[in-house]
Amino acid sequence: MRTEGKPPPRRKPAAEQPRATAAAKPAGRQAKETTLYGLAVSPGIAIGRLATATEQAPAIERRELFEDQVAWEIERFDEAVGASRKQLAKLRARLSILPEEANRELEPLLDAYAQMLGNSRLTRNIRRRIGEQRINAEAAVAEEAEGLAEAMFAAGTDDRATRQRRADEVREIGRRLVRNLTRTPWRNYSLLPHGAVLAAELLTPADAALLEPARLAGVMTEEGGLEGHTAIMLRALGLPAVLGVPGLMDTAEPGTMAIVDGRAGIVTLNPTATTLAAARKALAAEMRERQRLGRLRRLPAVTRDEEQVELQANLELPIELPMIAQSGAVGIGLLRTEFLFMNRDDVPDEDAQAETYIQVVEAMQGDPVTIRVLDWGGEKQIESLVAKGIVPGAGGDNPALGVRGLRLLLKETELFETQLAAILRASTKGPVRVLLPMVTTPDEVRKAREVYDRVGRRLRRRGLDLPEHLPPLGIMIETPGAALAADSLALESDFFAIGTNDLAMYTLAVDRAETEASHLYDPLHPAVLRLMQFAIEAALRIRMPVSVCGEIAGDARLTPLLLGLGIRSLSMSSGSVPRVKQAVRSVAIDDCARFARSVMEQSDPGRIAALVSGFQTKHDG
Ligand code: PEP
Ligand code: MG
Repeated sequence: MRTEGKPPPRRKPAAEQPRATAAAKPAGRQAKETTLYGLAVSPGIAIGRLATATEQAPAIERRELFEDQVAWEIERFDEAVGASRKQLAKLRARLSILPEEANRELEPLLDAYAQMLGNSRLTRNIRRRIGEQRINAEAAVAEEAEGLAEAMFAAGTDDRATRQRRADEVREIGRRLVRNLTRTPWRNYSLLPHGAVLAAELLTPADAALLEPARLAGVMTEEGGLEGHTAIMLRALGLPAVLGVPGLMDTAEPGTMAIVDGRAGIVTLNPTATTLAAARKALAAEMRERQRLGRLRRLPAVTRDEEQVELQANLELPIELPMIAQSGAVGIGLLRTEFLFMNRDDVPDEDAQAETYIQVVEAMQGDPVTIRVLDWGGEKQIESLVAKGIVPGAGGDNPALGVRGLRLLLKETELFETQLAAILRASTKGPVRVLLPMVTTPDEVRKAREVYDRVGRRLRRRGLDLPEHLPPLGIMIETPGAALAADSLALESDFFAIGTNDLAMYTLAVDRAETEASHLYDPLHPAVLRLMQFAIEAALRIRMPVSVCGEIAGDARLTPLLLGLGIRSLSMSSGSVPRVKQAVRSVAIDDCARFARSVMEQSDPGRIAALVSGFQTKHDG
């Protein structure tokens, strides 16, 4: 869940690393140009010097405990051990894709860490220290790890270098435990030099929320999937990005000149003058294209035969509001509220949430805003919920299949009610809809509606002027179960929003945020398309609004197919709106419907992909 930090042997220790540096490499022989391939996650060309983000040293405060706090503190320590073990297990799982040489170094080290996190002298002594000295776990870890490291270095028959290495390993495990106890971010993004290309082993969605798009040229990471939330956030921020680049961190040195081609999924390190000139030319062409598309902003999203299509934006962070205004999107079709709960230790209260929702609703100046309630689970790390003990520290054993989305909110009704109250307060400032994530049964929708109505009644008693009928309450269709039960779910819902990111993940059993099986992640797989079609038809039969807000909504190549399937409302990252608008304006609904029928007759994903590009070529030509 949390970033793995750095796998120690493959890079210099943090102390030797320049701080968030992108300083030019010393003059000398020109390093060889290296091309690496990854996942084309966020389009655009970025040219800049590589920077790696530095780790922040966690602040350790020594606190004395009361007798009755000791057992709880030991439990907290045990949770941090569990989280550390999970992080290291994840790192071990990646060994197979690393070069043999890196493997040879990493494997014994991971064994040593695993042993230390087991029933070792280190963990036993830390527990004893907490109990006997009645001190907080962070202090006990730091003091014990340092004491043990010094003792290991001072004693023993091994040579000095081996003793030093062992002592460093103990300190490293101590640091990992302290970070997991204090939930300190592993990296600091505010020190990145302007115009840098960020290279990282892994970025979590919470990390991505800390990036400043105005400061960065682009992003490349070694891990990460095509449709994980990190990928979505990078697209939303308009940062060209290539994720899932095997071997990146073995090759990437801070200060190296780099090119990110986010559309092709290619990273070039130490480009030659010729490659650099070609990239600069591509960048200039991209700017011209963006300007051309920008002129579509004020034109309506109508097909050639005058069919109106609603194009809205997805919003992950308030920082995107100006970009949404520029994009020509008419409202927000999916406001993911997770950002409100990330990178903080306390859960935002009703007033704080209401303030943010009102800010968004007012910024939309009368255009509709669909606010989705908190969707914890999957790869989203939401610190405030961990801090409050609402969800387990390391994300639980299988949060994608467990108490995710609405399931958590129905268990934690206070959390749910607080958020609904804040949203309803914002609904008095402009048109709002409420969206429920991860729904699988009609009963969940009924229960959610009961809570919603109860909150509405309470707010009215408090004097809030709410209409007799509360704003529409809709659901995400993002599991095969929900899609196949769409007819019964439609009876309980006011609208559907089809989340193809999760729908593809759950249908094809491929983690959207992982690298290894990403070649199997395909929203154009006939199974995914058939589920979508089923859900769309269930909604259209009863004339209920249905939109698509997964990432495929922003892929202009798929616009004719979605229109042909009956979709008239799409929500996407704001950067995609102009291109999709252009696609809408270039087609007629009859052609789209015919095309969709021919696609839905196919059973081979490859054939479907070929049909999609064939339709596009015909239209472009
Ligand atoms: C989806 O699953 O398609 C979706 C839009 O929700 P999220 O990406 O936030 O899981
Ligand atoms: Mg989803």
